[in-house]
Amino acid sequence: MSAVIIDGKKIAADIRAGVAEKVKKLKENGVEPCLAVILVGENPASVSYVTGKRKALAEAGIADRSVNLPESTTEEGLLKIIDELNKDNDVDGILVQLPLPKHIDEDKVLLAIEPSKDVDGFHPVNVGNLMIGRKGFLPCTPHGIIVLLKTIGIETDGKHAVVIGRSNIVGKPVSMLLARKDVNCTVTICHTGTKNMAELTIQADIIVVASGRPHTLTKDMVKDGAVVIDVGVNRIPDSSKKSGFRLTGDCDFYDLVEKTSFITPVPGGVGPMTIAMLMQNTLESACARCLDYSC
Ligand code: NAP
Repeated sequence: MSAVIIDGKKIAADIRAGVAEKVKKLKENGVEPCLAVILVGENPASVSYVTGKRKALAEAGIADRSVNLPESTTEEGLLKIIDELNKDNDVDGILVQLPLPKHIDEDKVLLAIEPSKDVDGFHPVNVGNLMIGRKGFLPCTPHGIIVLLKTIGIETDGKHAVVIGRSNIVGKPVSMLLARKDVNCTVTICHTGTKNMAELTIQADIIVVASGRPHTLTKDMVKDGAVVIDVGVNRIPDSSKKSGFRLTGDCDFYDLVEKTSFITPVPGGVGPMTIAMLMQNTLESACARCLDYSC
């Protein structure tokens, strides 16, 4: 068997094109969607993520109110900027790129963002809404994974999904979304305390890997025909590349292609979906201030 390699780039591009169309319509109704992306410091991975997000904003026609702050920014200074953006009626979404420098309390910062502008879906109000199935912003990466599965027509009803990782931004929320009635998987969550993880993954119809460790999922851990979603983004030193590194996921991709039915590549799988869902969340936030309800 050789897997279908899921083209996250293409699916994300279609979503972004749809967002751009709707942004046009909103602008005709006098509403200009706007996102503020806040970057503190110069962590290379964060700079690269923020660059990708800003490029997507430009392409979608969404106004970009991004703020680049020095590493030395104080917690108080950052909270003040968030407060100003919360009060600014022209701003629909606020995203603080993580991780923050160690002297800033991430929890305090995420709590400071107005839940109605929390397009990353990390505020406890939005996390709570996700848990109990109420409307709210869904976190972009987990939501992007569900949209990927639905778009390519993967049968999820009654299937066994194993999620490797229990972080607040990927593992836990994607587990919760997979278990929702509209997806209807039976979900097992694995982490570093899980004994004999392979005994669980080998039973899985769908495996979502978000460990942040290369080679977490190997060929012997997967049954024939399983669907594998690789969330991991790992920088591996590679002197043959201009950047000095290459990106890999958390799975042994080339081995798994031979055994699975569908698999996401890294890069080009989940990553582009994260950005597409961010554009969609920003659009939805802006729709709330449009008087034409068909928007
Ligand atoms: P994280 O906060 O470091 O969490 C990793 C989770 O994996 C933890 O729950 C950890 O367990 C578990 N884990 C680590 N090694 C394991 C192992 N060998 N076996 C079983 N469980 C293991 O990471 P994260 O923020 O969730 O991100 C995960 C990966 O996804 C990273 O590579 C990150 O860069 C990537 N990511 C990609 C996107 C995207 O858009 N493509 C978005 C977000 C994150 P414990 O809880 O026991 O420590």
